[in-house]
Amino acid sequence: MRSDGPTAPAPALPPAVRIREVGPRDGFQNEPEVIATSDKVRLVDELARTGLRRLEVTSFVRPDVIPQLADAADVLHAVEVPPEVSLSVLIPNERGLDNALALRDAHHFERPAFDEVNVFLSATESHNRANVNRSVAESLAGLERVLGRAREAGLRCEGVISVAFGCPYEGHVGPETVFAIAERLIAAGAQEIGFGDTTGMANPLQVRAFFLAARERLGADVELTAHFHNTRGQGLANVLAALEAGCASFESSFGELGGCPVPAGATGNIATEDLVSMLHEMGIGTGIDLDALLACARDVREVLGRPLGSHTLVAGPVDWH
Ligand code: ZN
Repeated sequence: MRSDGPTAPAPALPPAVRIREVGPRDGFQNEPEVIATSDKVRLVDELARTGLRRLEVTSFVRPDVIPQLADAADVLHAVEVPPEVSLSVLIPNERGLDNALALRDAHHFERPAFDEVNVFLSATESHNRANVNRSVAESLAGLERVLGRAREAGLRCEGVISVAFGCPYEGHVGPETVFAIAERLIAAGAQEIGFGDTTGMANPLQVRAFFLAARERLGADVELTAHFHNTRGQGLANVLAALEAGCASFESSFGELGGCPVPAGATGNIATEDLVSMLHEMGIGTGIDLDALLACARDVREVLGRPLGSHTLVAGPVDWH
């Protein structure tokens, strides 16, 4: 090997990472049209057989607010997911938790209707107000009750903080603000905190510093998860930066589906197949069969009838011959 002078040692990357597929929730919620329940069920069943171990399936939001996910109960009743795959549902408030628990307790199938809940709020007042029409303090107070009750009900809990790396309304978001919210969620029972770059404002240097500081500040016991949107094409660069800071948990959407209701024009999560392709090429394990995942992405492209943002879906897996 040719020596070009001193080089910084490469940071140790995690040997394997956990990936939660959020397309059936983050993705389907943000499609202009309502996807047929039977298509959702087929796609979830297909995703659950790719080696993915974590799937966010749907949301217990008010059907008049998000009609795209009004069939949450029907989807959860109909899917046939292997027991090793944990299913999570998004819970906006106590009413949502009531509905989710009622469904779970009335569910007479072999596996629980879902294993995990995901609660969310934004790091800034303006985005939280635009998204859920509450102040951050009001959201936190409500979610603390949701988390306490969900833990009592035996559910694993994730708290997602949106616009954690920058806000389309307020600009800069201080990491201290985000960590203070994370600490409240952890104290209330969250075992995992997802940090959302909801409108793709993060850059890799910022992400690396953020996750190093987050681990320091939030301790070793809580799982820290990166949730990047690819709005400005920096999603995978941000993944590498997060890996370098020791982050080993990611959320992504097959087909690069996804978005955010506010502001209009927010685009998709990083594509799960692009994430898996990059990680496998770097020797980082995911447990996911990329070909099977690509088949899911082709299927959802057919259902939606439009080209999707995913690159690997177009190019295919890397072939070294
Ligand atoms: Zn998202």
